[in-house]
Amino acid sequence: MEGTVVKGIAGFYYVKAGEQVYQCKARGLFKKDGIKVTVGDEVKIQLHEGSDALITEIKPRKNAFIRPPIVNVDCFAVVFAITQPQPNFAIIDRFLVMAEKSNLEIILCANKADLAEEAELQRVKDIYGGLYPLMLVSGKTGQGMDELKTWLKGKKCALAGPSGVGKSTILNALEPQVAAETGEISQKTKRGKHTTRHVEIFDTAFGAMLFDTPGFTSFEVLEADEEELAHLYPEMQDYLGQCRYDNCRHIKEPDCRIREAVTEGKINKSRYGSYVEQIKEIREKSKKW
Ligand code: GDP
Repeated sequence: MEGTVVKGIAGFYYVKAGEQVYQCKARGLFKKDGIKVTVGDEVKIQLHEGSDALITEIKPRKNAFIRPPIVNVDCFAVVFAITQPQPNFAIIDRFLVMAEKSNLEIILCANKADLAEEAELQRVKDIYGGLYPLMLVSGKTGQGMDELKTWLKGKKCALAGPSGVGKSTILNALEPQVAAETGEISQKTKRGKHTTRHVEIFDTAFGAMLFDTPGFTSFEVLEADEEELAHLYPEMQDYLGQCRYDNCRHIKEPDCRIREAVTEGKINKSRYGSYVEQIKEIREKSKKW
């Protein structure tokens, strides 16, 4: 049988195959190969009468994250609040760069649409409209949820974004059952000092699998290098290779096509600002090394 690893606790893996979840052991062989069965893995399992099922094969992975440990992520729904709190565009752009770097499909969920003023909505549309699918949603009123479900359907997706922007509220609006289970887990974690928070992926009634990934609220490292960074900004692609210098980093160099595009209003200033900040950060880090 084939299925998806939905969680792993204390040496057991739980594999969802069809409508059933099977408690499985991993074959010793994987350990020898240095491969650890991870939430999100697509696996083959063998059932054994009277004992635990056995994972016999791990299918090749599409991608792998270390913190939180999840694999085969199809997409990131990057969540932010249009207002209350005001969006931190630098942080949103980091999430986007990281998702681009990981080759994930991206959707932007601009939440708290119910509270937003027209000017605030417009600002968000000016920066991201046309770059990524942008959904104006409200976890509170349910606005945009059907559209979001349609987009998420058939994918393994993680909701990513800083805390306080409404990820749990959206999860609850999408699938109350999942939100209740994740809530329970957080409660337990708070109480039990030695309880390790485990990662899980939830199958939803609307056909998406959602990772419960609290770790995707912040990033310790931006793992792009200087040369690569511009390639992770989709709006810069048309202009790359047109600067005077081949190794132009689009900061101060003369005859830089990217900076021209910013002046012409073809690349958004806020996005370019994030790019510059990230370049500086990468340079700082390489100095430290
Ligand atoms: P998380 O930290 O990203 O999971 O954010 P939460 O889901 O806990 O939401 C943070 C706060 O914003 C809570 O007080 C929510 O009730 C509120 N909130 C979340 N989504 C919305 C929304 O769409 N509209 C309004 N008005 N409030 C929201």
